[in-house]
Order: sequence, then C-alpha cells, then structure tokens
Amino acid sequence: MRKIGLLGGMSWESTAEYYRLLNEGVRDALGGLHSAQIVLASVDFAEVEGMQVEGRWEDAGALLAAEARGLESAGAEVVLLCTNTMHKVADDVASAVSIPLLHLADATADAVTTAGLSTVGLLGTAFTMEQDFYRGRLDSHGLKVLIPDAADRALVHGIIYDELCMGRVEDASRDALLAVARRLVVRGAQGIVLGCTELELLATPGSLGEIPLFPTTRLHVEAALRFALEL
Ligand code: GLU
Repeated sequence: MRKIGLLGGMSWESTAEYYRLLNEGVRDALGGLHSAQIVLASVDFAEVEGMQVEGRWEDAGALLAAEARGLESAGAEVVLLCTNTMHKVADDVASAVSIPLLHLADATADAVTTAGLSTVGLLGTAFTMEQDFYRGRLDSHGLKVLIPDAADRALVHGIIYDELCMGRVEDASRDALLAVARRLVVRGAQGIVLGCTELELLATPGSLGEIPLFPTTRLHVEAALRFALEL
C-alpha cells in the first residue's frame, strides 16, 4: 500500500472526513484490521483564510508548498490538497515536491464524464465559483460549467465559512443550498458539483433525487484509494 499525504485543515471539518473515508475505503478493500497509511499536515485555517481575503495567494502558495515538502519528507507518495479553493495554488504545491499531486478538479471531472454528463452546476466558495482556476480545469475536460447568480453565490459562500467550517450543519441551510442547486438545474445543469470539501456534510448524492450530486471529498478519496492500492 502506498502512503497518502493529506494537506488539510482547510477546514479540519472536511479533513476529518478525508481521514475517515480513506480508512473505511482501505478496510473495505483489504478487510480485517487494515487501515490507510496516511501522513497529515494540518494548517491553521484562520491564517489561510486571512491570506484568501487579502489576496495573498503567493504567500498561501509558499505556505502550502512548505507543508507539502514536509509530507514528502515524512514518506508520503502522493499529495492531496484537501480543499477545492486552495487549488488556486495547486501549481505551487505540485512544483515543490517530486511526488504527484492528485488534482481535485481532475478527479471530479473524471466522475462527471464517466456519468455521461457534459454540463454541471458548480457550488463552492466565491473563489472557486468566480475565478478560473477550478472552472477552467473542468472546462479543460470538455465540461460546461454553470455558476449561481451573485446572491446565490454569496449565500453558498456564507454557509461554507460561517457554518460548515465552524462545525455547524443547519437544516435551513441545507434547504437553501438545494434550492440554489435546483435553480442551476432549471438553467440546464445535468448534475451539481459540490465543489467545496465541506458541502457534503450538508448534502448527500441523493439529495436532489434524479439529479446527481458530485461530492468532491469522496471523489478525491476514491482517486487516492486507487493510487494507494494500485487499482
Ligand atoms: N474546504 C473548502 C473548499 O473545498 C473551503 C475552505 C477553503 O477556503 O479552503 O474549497
């Protein structure tokens, strides 16, 4: 089994899901007492969020690159950046190490195309929905990406930072999030990418009935399991 490096803490609420899902996946695959071999680097999210708000992406890239080097030194054979948003600096992280970075948008796009869909709605932080680093990566897989209008983007962004990253899972916010998703479906989305690693704490793949939801934490974990177990 190969050792997985998690670059997490953004927020730790979703990193805890990565840890649980990776271990469950290895147990399901290998049985008995088997569990995943993991090295975790977990940052102080308040520091990273400050850099996001101030647009200090170079500093954030340098911070995460240093953490990734630490993972490699600790024996990790792959790096997972456990946040969609910080894939804005994925190139800085990837170029700091000689082990591969499993890009979250690639794992997501593979699942969408395997499901036979070509147009998806994207929910995530304002950075992820509005900037090109993530949408562009989905585009490069031939996907058309729809994002919510400004009011809905602000709503989703607020749910992520003010609730989910603080450990609050509210029924009213689940309803609001699914209403945003439905508006994207009306505009032509065939599926919805939960493009923030906390969003699947709120919504599950069946939450919209027939319309598939793509949970990025779970998809990232599945890609890591294929790598670690050499499937
Ligand atoms: N975990 C989130 C994401 O997947 C948001 C927190 C962050 O800004 O990193 O985008």
